Amino acid sequence: MRDNKSTVTEKFDVVVLGAGISGLCLAHRVVRAGRQVLVLESAGEPGGCVRSQRQPDGFWFEMGAHTLYNSYGSLLAIIDELGLGDRILARRRAPYRLLVEGKLRSIPSQLNLAELFASAWHAFSERKQGRTVADYYGKLVGRKNWKRVLAPLFAAVPSQPADDFPAEILFKKRPRRKDVPRSYTFAGGIQTLTDRMATRPGITLRTNATACALARTEGGFVVTIAGGDRVLARCLALAIPAPEAAGLLAHLAPEAATALARIVVAKIESVGVVADAHHVRLPHLAGIVPVNDTFFSVVTRDVVPDDRLRAFTFHFGAGQTLDQRIDRICAVTRLDRDQLVCVATHATSLPSLSLVHAGIADEIDRHLPRSGLYITGNYFGGLAIEDCSLRSAKEADRLLAEAI
Ligand SMILES: Cc1cc2nc3c(=O)[nH]c(=O)nc-3n(C[C@H](O)[C@H](O)[C@H](O)COP(=O)(O)OP(=O)(O)OC[C@H]3O[C@@H](n4cnc5c(N)ncnc54)[C@H](O)[C@@H]3O)c2cc1C
Repeated sequence: MRDNKSTVTEKFDVVVLGAGISGLCLAHRVVRAGRQVLVLESAGEPGGCVRSQRQPDGFWFEMGAHTLYNSYGSLLAIIDELGLGDRILARRRAPYRLLVEGKLRSIPSQLNLAELFASAWHAFSERKQGRTVADYYGKLVGRKNWKRVLAPLFAAVPSQPADDFPAEILFKKRPRRKDVPRSYTFAGGIQTLTDRMATRPGITLRTNATACALARTEGGFVVTIAGGDRVLARCLALAIPAPEAAGLLAHLAPEAATALARIVVAKIESVGVVADAHHVRLPHLAGIVPVNDTFFSVVTRDVVPDDRLRAFTFHFGAGQTLDQRIDRICAVTRLDRDQLVCVATHATSLPSLSLVHAGIADEIDRHLPRSGLYITGNYFGGLAIEDCSLRSAKEADRLLAEAI
């Protein structure tokens, strides 16, 4: 029984900060090797950027990550180990549309074909390495096509302008598993996976538990949780956004903290709405990408169709009130406010990566060996869930080899 006012000191082999996909993948691998793991999570539930909003009647829609691919081999190994393979749901094919001056347009219809054909030959000579997304893809499709079509499409991926992202980091080629649908989710949404990971035997999850201070102690670390509780860890893994990790490590690992503090993040504020299907006049779509708007993308539930309800999640940057956002959502979906049967919000952040990023990640890694500290997240190999899983696998292997 936990008393909120008292200081409880429990000891674990490993304490993981953050129950997003990165923290859970690391915890999964360490527990599989027989270690006891405590995962501390600030929010009231695990998942982080993975948040499947569920209604009492069973309808669900994604507030964050929405698509997994058969190229996510490292994640699929975990899915298999958890026996979740039979809950995989193939996503139905549906188009993405651009929103141009209030009208939905197909992507090809917005491309200037003359410019595209004049530029396409660059595909044979251009290399992605050391180039930004705007520089590399701009060459391939032409500057005007980049600005009008590709820049909004790329910005829709990390919900922020992506021009300066390294070209190598988005859309990686990976081997595909032929026995798994090309793109998929789960019955109940992707959070079905993170929920299962968080309840795996050997993992103790503590929600509403923000790690607010770290210190070294004999044989490990002491983690102070907001409210005063403390836990002891032989090894400590951080799987939280870079700015939070930088703050917590400022005294414990100042060099790594300085490198982490150089990683800029963008806040993403998502608003999801649900309406009766017969009220929605929009065609069935996977999503909408606006050209120059207050939001970066809309993701729908149409890829897992439901007879009764449809859902639309709008991913905004910071800076507007909920009221203003709902006005914009109603204008785009052509729904009245009183036709919205559910409005949900979820705030997350994603790193804003640039060409200097690889150097920052190397700098973080340079200070970690044999420190008892392990850092994972979406700011190493890339933002995709598979990148998080791969980084977590690497850190879990290092932990098991180095520490215990
Ligand atoms: C809108 C959106 C759509 C996306 N779509 C896709 C997609 O379709 N496919 C895909 O592959 N990827 C997608 N991504 C990217 C991917 O979902 C994320 O990069 C990934 O989930 C990040 O996981 P993470 O565990 O590294 O970080 P997070 O998910 O941010 O988890 C970090 C966790 O740490 C917790 N935390 C923070 N500070 C503390 C503290 N001091 N103590 C304890 N806990 C703390 C937070 O509450 C959070 O739960 C999407 C991301 C977003 C935002």
